[in-house]
Amino acid sequence: MRSFLPLILAVVMVSGCSYFPGAPARAPDYGVRLKTMQDLPSPNFEPRPSGVAVDMLVIHYTGMKSARAALARMRDPGAKVSAHYVIDESGTVYRLVAENMRAWHAGTASWGGATNINDRSIGIELVNPGAEFGYRSFPEPQMKALEQLAGDLLKRHPIPARHVLGHSDVAPSRKQDPGELFDWARLARAGIGLWPEPPLGTEVALGGEHPPPIAETQTLLRRFGYPITVNGEDDAYTRFVITAFQRHFHPQNVSGEMDADTFAKLRALVAATEGAPTKTEES
Ligand SMILES: [Zn+2]
Repeated sequence: MRSFLPLILAVVMVSGCSYFPGAPARAPDYGVRLKTMQDLPSPNFEPRPSGVAVDMLVIHYTGMKSARAALARMRDPGAKVSAHYVIDESGTVYRLVAENMRAWHAGTASWGGATNINDRSIGIELVNPGAEFGYRSFPEPQMKALEQLAGDLLKRHPIPARHVLGHSDVAPSRKQDPGELFDWARLARAGIGLWPEPPLGTEVALGGEHPPPIAETQTLLRRFGYPITVNGEDDAYTRFVITAFQRHFHPQNVSGEMDADTFAKLRALVAATEGAPTKTEES
Protein backbone atom coordinates (compact mmCIF):
# COMPACT_ATOMS: atom_id res chain seq x y z
CA MET A 1 0.00 0.00 0.00
CA ARG A 2 2.87 2.38 0.77
CA SER A 3 4.25 2.24 -2.75
CA PHE A 4 0.77 2.89 -4.07
CA LEU A 5 0.24 6.24 -2.38
CA PRO A 6 2.55 8.38 -4.56
CA LEU A 7 0.72 7.05 -7.61
CA ILE A 8 -2.66 7.96 -6.16
CA LEU A 9 -1.47 11.45 -5.32
CA ALA A 10 -0.12 11.87 -8.84
CA VAL A 11 -3.41 10.72 -10.34
CA VAL A 12 -5.40 13.06 -8.13
CA MET A 13 -3.17 15.97 -9.06
CA VAL A 14 -3.43 15.22 -12.77
CA SER A 15 -7.16 14.67 -12.74
CA GLY A 16 -7.78 17.69 -10.53
CA CYS A 17 -9.30 17.46 -7.09
CA SER A 18 -12.03 19.99 -7.77
CA TYR A 19 -13.32 18.40 -10.96
CA PHE A 20 -15.91 15.70 -10.57
CA PRO A 21 -18.20 14.65 -13.40
CA GLY A 22 -21.82 14.61 -12.43
CA ALA A 23 -21.37 16.40 -9.14
CA PRO A 24 -23.13 19.70 -8.61
CA ALA A 25 -20.68 22.53 -9.21
CA ARG A 26 -21.51 24.40 -6.02
CA ALA A 27 -21.06 21.77 -3.34
CA PRO A 28 -20.26 18.12 -2.95
CA ASP A 29 -23.32 15.91 -2.76
CA TYR A 30 -22.15 14.06 0.32
CA GLY A 31 -21.65 15.21 3.84
CA VAL A 32 -19.08 12.67 4.86
CA ARG A 33 -16.77 13.89 7.52
CA LEU A 34 -14.09 11.38 6.82
CA LYS A 35 -10.47 12.19 7.41
CA THR A 36 -9.39 10.51 4.24
CA MET A 37 -11.50 10.88 1.12
CA GLN A 38 -10.14 11.25 -2.36
CA ASP A 39 -11.85 11.80 -5.67
CA LEU A 40 -10.76 9.38 -8.36
CA PRO A 41 -13.44 9.93 -10.99
CA SER A 42 -14.58 7.01 -13.11
CA PRO A 43 -16.12 7.50 -16.54
CA ASN A 44 -18.34 4.46 -15.96
CA PHE A 45 -21.64 6.01 -14.96
CA GLU A 46 -24.77 7.56 -16.43
CA PRO A 47 -27.66 9.64 -15.10
CA ARG A 48 -30.14 7.90 -12.84
CA PRO A 49 -33.62 7.63 -14.32
CA SER A 50 -35.71 10.59 -13.25
CA GLY A 51 -38.04 10.05 -10.33
CA VAL A 52 -36.14 7.08 -8.88
CA ALA A 53 -35.02 7.61 -5.29
CA VAL A 54 -31.86 6.05 -3.91
CA ASP A 55 -33.26 3.52 -1.46
CA MET A 56 -30.69 0.74 -1.44
CA LEU A 57 -27.06 0.25 -0.42
CA VAL A 58 -25.10 -2.63 -1.96
CA ILE A 59 -21.80 -3.70 -0.44
CA HIS A 60 -19.16 -5.53 -2.47
CA TYR A 61 -15.61 -6.71 -2.29
CA THR A 62 -13.30 -5.96 -5.19
CA GLY A 63 -12.01 -9.53 -5.60
CA MET A 64 -8.79 -8.37 -7.23
CA LYS A 65 -5.14 -8.74 -6.27
CA SER A 66 -4.69 -5.14 -5.11
CA ALA A 67 -6.44 -1.84 -4.53
CA ARG A 68 -4.47 -0.43 -7.41
CA ALA A 69 -5.74 -3.08 -9.83
CA ALA A 70 -9.33 -2.66 -8.67
CA LEU A 71 -9.28 1.14 -8.96
CA ALA A 72 -7.68 0.94 -12.40
CA ARG A 73 -10.36 -1.43 -13.62
CA MET A 74 -13.22 0.64 -12.24
CA ARG A 75 -11.80 3.71 -13.99
CA ASP A 76 -11.17 1.97 -17.31
CA PRO A 77 -13.84 3.01 -19.82
CA GLY A 78 -13.53 -0.36 -21.53
CA ALA A 79 -14.39 -2.29 -18.37
CA LYS A 80 -17.79 -0.63 -17.99
CA VAL A 81 -17.85 -1.29 -14.25
CA SER A 82 -17.68 1.11 -11.33
CA ALA A 83 -18.99 1.85 -7.86
CA HIS A 84 -19.73 5.07 -6.08
CA TYR A 85 -17.07 4.46 -3.47
CA VAL A 86 -14.08 2.19 -2.93
CA ILE A 87 -12.59 1.74 0.54
CA ASP A 88 -9.10 0.30 0.80
CA GLU A 89 -7.79 -1.75 3.69
CA SER A 90 -6.18 1.28 5.34
CA GLY A 91 -9.55 3.04 5.46
CA THR A 92 -8.99 5.53 2.64
CA VAL A 93 -12.24 6.22 0.79
CA TYR A 94 -12.13 6.89 -2.93
CA ARG A 95 -15.13 8.51 -4.56
CA LEU A 96 -15.47 7.33 -8.14
CA VAL A 97 -19.02 8.26 -9.06
CA ALA A 98 -21.26 10.99 -7.65
CA GLU A 99 -24.18 9.71 -5.62
CA ASN A 100 -26.74 11.33 -7.90
CA MET A 101 -25.38 9.31 -10.82
CA ARG A 102 -25.96 5.65 -11.69
CA ALA A 103 -22.80 3.61 -11.15
CA TRP A 104 -22.41 0.19 -12.76
CA HIS A 105 -21.80 -2.10 -9.83
CA ALA A 106 -24.61 -4.65 -9.42
CA GLY A 107 -25.03 -6.05 -12.93
CA THR A 108 -27.98 -8.37 -13.42
CA ALA A 109 -29.59 -8.29 -10.01
CA SER A 110 -32.92 -8.31 -8.25
CA TRP A 111 -34.45 -7.63 -4.85
CA GLY A 112 -38.04 -7.56 -3.67
CA GLY A 113 -39.19 -8.18 -7.23
CA ALA A 114 -37.33 -5.16 -8.61
CA THR A 115 -34.55 -5.58 -11.15
CA ASN A 116 -33.46 -1.94 -11.44
CA ILE A 117 -30.85 -2.26 -8.72
CA ASN A 118 -28.26 0.12 -10.21
CA ASP A 119 -30.95 2.76 -10.81
CA ARG A 120 -31.79 3.00 -7.13
CA SER A 121 -28.68 1.98 -5.23
CA ILE A 122 -25.34 3.22 -4.03
CA GLY A 123 -22.50 0.75 -4.44
CA ILE A 124 -19.53 0.54 -2.08
CA GLU A 125 -16.58 -1.69 -2.97
CA LEU A 126 -14.31 -2.89 -0.19
CA VAL A 127 -10.81 -3.78 -1.26
CA ASN A 128 -10.29 -7.48 -0.57
CA PRO A 129 -8.63 -10.15 -2.74
CA GLY A 130 -11.82 -12.20 -2.46
CA ALA A 131 -12.37 -15.87 -3.08
CA GLU A 132 -10.13 -15.95 -6.14
CA PHE A 133 -6.99 -14.32 -4.71
CA GLY A 134 -7.11 -15.04 -0.97
CA TYR A 135 -10.22 -13.96 0.89
CA ARG A 136 -9.40 -12.40 4.25
CA SER A 137 -11.13 -10.43 6.97
CA PHE A 138 -11.81 -6.76 6.57
CA PRO A 139 -9.42 -4.75 8.76
CA GLU A 140 -10.61 -2.35 11.45
CA PRO A 141 -9.69 0.90 9.62
CA GLN A 142 -11.63 -0.28 6.57
CA MET A 143 -14.69 -1.23 8.62
CA LYS A 144 -14.56 2.01 10.55
CA ALA A 145 -14.44 4.06 7.35
CA LEU A 146 -17.33 2.04 5.96
CA GLU A 147 -19.35 2.59 9.12
CA GLN A 148 -18.85 6.35 8.85
CA LEU A 149 -19.59 6.48 5.14
CA ALA A 150 -22.65 4.23 5.30
CA GLY A 151 -23.97 5.99 8.39
CA ASP A 152 -23.78 9.25 6.51
CA LEU A 153 -25.46 7.82 3.42
CA LEU A 154 -28.39 6.62 5.48
CA LYS A 155 -28.93 10.13 6.80
CA ARG A 156 -29.10 11.57 3.31
CA HIS A 157 -31.07 8.90 1.42
CA PRO A 158 -34.30 7.06 2.29
CA ILE A 159 -32.60 3.66 2.60
CA PRO A 160 -34.50 1.30 4.93
CA ALA A 161 -32.48 -1.17 7.01
CA ARG A 162 -33.76 -4.11 4.95
CA HIS A 163 -32.23 -2.52 1.85
CA VAL A 164 -28.66 -2.63 3.17
CA LEU A 165 -27.50 -5.65 1.21
CA GLY A 166 -24.55 -7.55 -0.15
CA HIS A 167 -23.96 -8.14 -3.83
CA SER A 168 -24.57 -11.84 -3.18
CA ASP A 169 -28.04 -11.04 -1.81
CA VAL A 170 -29.16 -9.41 -5.06
CA ALA A 171 -27.29 -11.80 -7.39
CA PRO A 172 -27.15 -15.09 -5.45
CA SER A 173 -26.25 -17.41 -8.31
CA ARG A 174 -23.47 -15.18 -9.67
CA LYS A 175 -21.83 -13.44 -6.72
CA GLN A 176 -20.53 -14.19 -3.25
CA ASP A 177 -19.26 -10.79 -2.17
CA PRO A 178 -18.75 -9.34 0.37
CA GLY A 179 -18.75 -12.87 1.82
CA GLU A 180 -19.03 -14.55 5.17
CA LEU A 181 -16.10 -12.68 6.76
CA PHE A 182 -17.91 -9.38 6.41
CA ASP A 183 -19.18 -8.19 9.78
CA TRP A 184 -22.85 -7.40 9.16
CA ALA A 185 -23.60 -7.67 12.88
CA ARG A 186 -21.22 -4.83 13.62
CA LEU A 187 -22.85 -2.64 11.00
CA ALA A 188 -26.28 -3.38 12.45
CA ARG A 189 -25.06 -2.40 15.92
CA ALA A 190 -24.08 0.93 14.35
CA GLY A 191 -27.61 1.31 13.01
CA ILE A 192 -26.76 0.16 9.48
CA GLY A 193 -28.83 -2.75 8.17
CA LEU A 194 -30.48 -5.66 9.95
CA TRP A 195 -29.20 -8.39 12.20
CA PRO A 196 -31.53 -11.12 13.41
CA GLU A 197 -31.54 -11.93 17.11
CA PRO A 198 -33.77 -14.99 17.52
CA PRO A 199 -33.08 -17.49 20.28
CA LEU A 200 -30.49 -19.74 18.68
CA GLY A 201 -29.88 -23.42 19.21
CA THR A 202 -33.40 -23.85 20.48
CA GLU A 203 -35.10 -26.06 17.94
CA VAL A 204 -37.95 -26.67 20.35
CA ALA A 205 -38.86 -23.01 20.19
CA LEU A 206 -39.14 -23.19 16.43
CA GLY A 207 -42.03 -25.59 16.14
CA GLY A 208 -42.90 -27.11 12.80
CA GLU A 209 -41.02 -29.62 10.73
CA HIS A 210 -37.22 -29.96 10.58
CA PRO A 211 -35.98 -29.40 8.08
CA PRO A 212 -38.85 -27.20 7.00
CA PRO A 213 -40.53 -27.98 3.69
CA ILE A 214 -38.54 -26.40 0.87
CA ALA A 215 -41.56 -24.43 -0.33
CA GLU A 216 -41.80 -22.77 3.09
CA THR A 217 -38.14 -21.80 2.94
CA GLN A 218 -38.55 -20.43 -0.56
CA THR A 219 -41.66 -18.48 0.45
CA LEU A 220 -39.87 -16.82 3.38
CA LEU A 221 -36.77 -16.02 1.31
CA ARG A 222 -38.98 -14.46 -1.33
CA ARG A 223 -40.99 -12.48 1.21
CA PHE A 224 -37.78 -11.11 2.65
CA GLY A 225 -36.68 -9.96 -0.83
CA TYR A 226 -34.50 -12.63 -2.41
CA PRO A 227 -35.05 -13.32 -6.10
CA ILE A 228 -36.50 -16.82 -5.87
CA THR A 229 -39.54 -18.64 -7.22
CA VAL A 230 -41.57 -20.90 -4.96
CA ASN A 231 -41.48 -24.22 -6.82
CA GLY A 232 -41.07 -26.65 -3.92
CA GLU A 233 -37.91 -28.07 -5.51
CA ASP A 234 -34.68 -28.50 -3.60
CA ASP A 235 -32.77 -27.32 -6.66
CA ALA A 236 -29.34 -25.80 -7.23
CA TYR A 237 -30.70 -22.26 -7.44
CA THR A 238 -32.50 -22.56 -4.10
CA ARG A 239 -29.22 -23.66 -2.54
CA PHE A 240 -27.51 -20.60 -3.97
CA VAL A 241 -30.12 -18.39 -2.32
CA ILE A 242 -29.89 -20.20 1.03
CA THR A 243 -26.10 -19.85 0.79
CA ALA A 244 -26.43 -16.12 0.10
CA PHE A 245 -28.72 -15.77 3.12
CA GLN A 246 -26.22 -17.65 5.29
CA ARG A 247 -23.27 -15.56 4.05
CA HIS A 248 -25.11 -12.48 5.25
CA PHE A 249 -27.06 -13.61 8.30
CA HIS A 250 -25.67 -16.93 9.48
CA PRO A 251 -21.97 -17.16 8.59
CA GLN A 252 -21.52 -20.04 11.05
CA ASN A 253 -22.98 -22.38 8.43
CA VAL A 254 -22.50 -21.32 4.82
CA SER A 255 -23.57 -24.62 3.34
CA GLY A 256 -26.77 -24.06 1.41
CA GLU A 257 -28.42 -26.50 3.84
CA MET A 258 -31.31 -25.09 5.84
CA ASP A 259 -30.47 -25.73 9.50
CA ALA A 260 -32.63 -24.74 12.45
CA ASP A 261 -30.66 -21.60 13.29
CA THR A 262 -30.69 -20.33 9.72
CA PHE A 263 -34.42 -20.90 9.57
CA ALA A 264 -35.00 -19.15 12.88
CA LYS A 265 -33.09 -16.13 11.63
CA LEU A 266 -35.00 -16.08 8.37
CA ARG A 267 -38.32 -16.20 10.19
CA ALA A 268 -37.21 -13.47 12.59
CA LEU A 269 -36.16 -11.20 9.74
CA VAL A 270 -39.38 -11.68 7.79
CA ALA A 271 -41.39 -10.98 10.94
CA ALA A 272 -39.33 -7.88 11.71
CA THR A 273 -39.56 -6.40 8.23
CA GLU A 274 -43.03 -7.23 6.98
CA GLY A 275 -45.51 -4.55 7.87
CA ALA A 276 -42.81 -2.36 9.36
CA PRO A 277 -42.86 1.07 7.78
CA THR A 278 -39.85 2.00 5.69
CA LYS A 279 -38.17 5.35 5.96
CA THR A 280 -39.72 6.25 2.62
CA GLU A 281 -43.21 5.55 3.86
CA GLU A 282 -42.67 7.52 7.03
CA SER A 283 -41.48 10.65 5.32
ZN1 LIG B 1 -19.77 -7.20 -6.24
